[in-house]
Amino acid sequence: MLERLLIRSGVLALPSGPHRADVLCEGGRVVAIGRDIDAPGARVVDASGMTVGPGLIDVHVHGGGGHSFFTQDRSRIEAYAAWAPRNGVTSFLVSTVGNGPDETEAILEALAPAVGHTSGAEVLGFHLEGPFINPVRHGAFPPGMLRAPSLEEWERFDAAAGGNIRQVTLAPELPGALPLIHAIDRAGGIPAMGHTDATTAECAAGFEAGIRHVTHLFNAMRPIHQREGGPIVAALLEDRATCELICDGTHVDPAPLRMAYRVLGPSRTVVVTDNLHLAGMEATSGRFAGEEVTVTGAKAAKADGTIVGSVATMDTHFRNTLEFLGVDLATAFRLCSTNPAGVAGAAGRKGQIEPGFDADMVLLDGELRVRLTVCRGEVVFDGR
Ligand SMILES: [Zn+2]
Repeated sequence: MLERLLIRSGVLALPSGPHRADVLCEGGRVVAIGRDIDAPGARVVDASGMTVGPGLIDVHVHGGGGHSFFTQDRSRIEAYAAWAPRNGVTSFLVSTVGNGPDETEAILEALAPAVGHTSGAEVLGFHLEGPFINPVRHGAFPPGMLRAPSLEEWERFDAAAGGNIRQVTLAPELPGALPLIHAIDRAGGIPAMGHTDATTAECAAGFEAGIRHVTHLFNAMRPIHQREGGPIVAALLEDRATCELICDGTHVDPAPLRMAYRVLGPSRTVVVTDNLHLAGMEATSGRFAGEEVTVTGAKAAKADGTIVGSVATMDTHFRNTLEFLGVDLATAFRLCSTNPAGVAGAAGRKGQIEPGFDADMVLLDGELRVRLTVCRGEVVFDGR
């Protein structure tokens, strides 16, 4: 039986402005929001002086705290789920792929039982980043891991994951990509454009086929040229698509992030970490996809300088969102929680503090540091 929990006197970051209120949670859900709620027997958390927002949701993360999602060991996912709430994360998509279709299938099959079944942060499904991406824009993935789009392989992956693949990052210009986009869409996943060298016309065909999301806009894609806008311009102008922004200040300079946000606005922007297992660690080196990476500040890079992933945790991305994009607190929660919930297929139960929604909340102090995190009505991190 989940406990009854009362978050007393916090300031809720609501779209209508900051609002002091109590939040009562029962059975893992929010049941009431209001002033001076009387809740006999409830565990009470005094949130005075703190901001209360919906728990942060990361739809593009490969691990953290030393735990990597490039694994067939489900206990790594469970360990990450226990660790991530200290960064305000209350749910996430497992972003992964294997070295070859057999390994991808084995990873998905081994990790699928974790979906919806971790304590701490909740696994909402998978983000398959590859293998159907363009070798020209492979980023940190070894070119040998990449595959030509294949409906047969996609069906194997979807079955291995038990229908839990939410997002698939692919390059729409590859032969066979368009029928694959249709198939992902039909299966209830979100076809996402990324690691792509597409021209404007190839992007248009991809959006027409069903692409609804763009993986780390700016990174691992053809840059803007004045006579060939490519994926960046096409994505910004495509009203049907949401776009991921990595707001660590390293993957993309704050100025292009601001420019993108001016076009995308609050409804189409999704902040992601693209975190590596080294995120939040003291370690200054480690391995990614079999290669040595070195961490300098917020950046993890291979010896040739290729950025492998971010090591700045989600709470840092949240604070950067305010600073880099110039948004208010309520909007920052929209970009780091509400919109990601939509990508993860959980818009009806996560990403907002509302009666009936999952009681996933983060309490921030005056410096916007995470002080306490609640996952489905349970206090899972208390750093007060
Ligand atoms: Zn990634």
